[in-house]
Amino acid sequence: MATSNFWGNELEYRRTVLRVVLIVIIVAGITFTINNWIVGHKVFAMIELLVVFLSVGILAIHKKTPNLALWSSVFLFALYTVILIGIFTASFSSALYSWLFIVPVLSYLLLGTRLGTLYSVVYVLSGCGILTTRHVMQSDDVPTIAIINIALTLTAIWALSYTYEQKRAQTVKRLQEMASLDPLTGLNNRLLLGSIFDMLCDSLPEKQKSVSMILVDLDHFKKVNDEFGHDVGDAVLVEVSRIINSMRRRNDWAFRFGGEEFCLLIPAVTPTQAHGIAERLRHCVEHTISAEGFPSTMTVSIGVAHWPESGNELSQIYKAADERLYQAKEQGRNRIVSE
Ligand code: GH3
Ligand code: MG
Ligand code: MG
Repeated sequence: MATSNFWGNELEYRRTVLRVVLIVIIVAGITFTINNWIVGHKVFAMIELLVVFLSVGILAIHKKTPNLALWSSVFLFALYTVILIGIFTASFSSALYSWLFIVPVLSYLLLGTRLGTLYSVVYVLSGCGILTTRHVMQSDDVPTIAIINIALTLTAIWALSYTYEQKRAQTVKRLQEMASLDPLTGLNNRLLLGSIFDMLCDSLPEKQKSVSMILVDLDHFKKVNDEFGHDVGDAVLVEVSRIINSMRRRNDWAFRFGGEEFCLLIPAVTPTQAHGIAERLRHCVEHTISAEGFPSTMTVSIGVAHWPESGNELSQIYKAADERLYQAKEQGRNRIVSE
């Protein structure tokens, strides 16, 4: 059974970006530390060395840490602060201000639109503010035209970085929805079952560690298509999914497994409670279903299995639920088998 993890993709992307950035900053940081030490800027060299140590530390944990956004924020805070100190102290001709150009790019790539905007506002404006102050105070030869050019280029990079990150996040969200939702009923599709089952098992407190799987199959559904047409069949599927959705509690998950098979994952209930939920669903479908152009009644057969009673692996739970569903069909349909 597929257990692909859709929630992890976004984090993996940010981890990769962080890794690349850290490696570049470590190389640049060592170069500048050596250079500044040689030319006598020993305090600044030590500050840069601290950023190198921090970067090496974050590089060591970046693959495993659950707090990626926090560590990215800490890293960028340290890096940008050193850049600002550099712009404040170094001569204009060293072109240290050119590091400001990566501020919006890194902020949006590593932190997303909201936090990325906050970091960009604080550090881009501070950087430009320092340059302008130096120009006004004439403490160094900082030409007006250079400040205008830097500000305009920064604005362009900032706008492009923001647009890129916003569109990327929208596209990823849309693709994730397309990949994980059934287009007819809007329920989750089977691809998500594995990651959601793992997430439920991991997140439940010790005393409530149980997940019930309720597997639902419409009875004689082929006849609905044959007698009333495929469109009516679709409307019945939508109606059944609406009932399943309406019965779902906040922490329950509903899936359509393709065809006319549905599944519910219900955390933190006893097998008796799960049987009760299945019975309510069976009763509800039998008594309330009314789809346009469908004058008949619909019934469902249900197999129920439980983690950990029916097995430790999702594939074992599914197999048990499927076998029980088959028994329900064998025993005459419109019934539940849960043990
Ligand atoms: P049983 O009681 O044994 O489950 O019989 P059944 O007729 O429900 O089961 P069977 O698996 O033989 O038929 C399922 C039918 O579901 C076959 C297929 O035409 C229909 N079906 C699958 N997906 C869709 C869909 O998206 N829309 C419609 N209208 N029909 C579908
Ligand atoms: Mg069926
Ligand atoms: Mg079926």
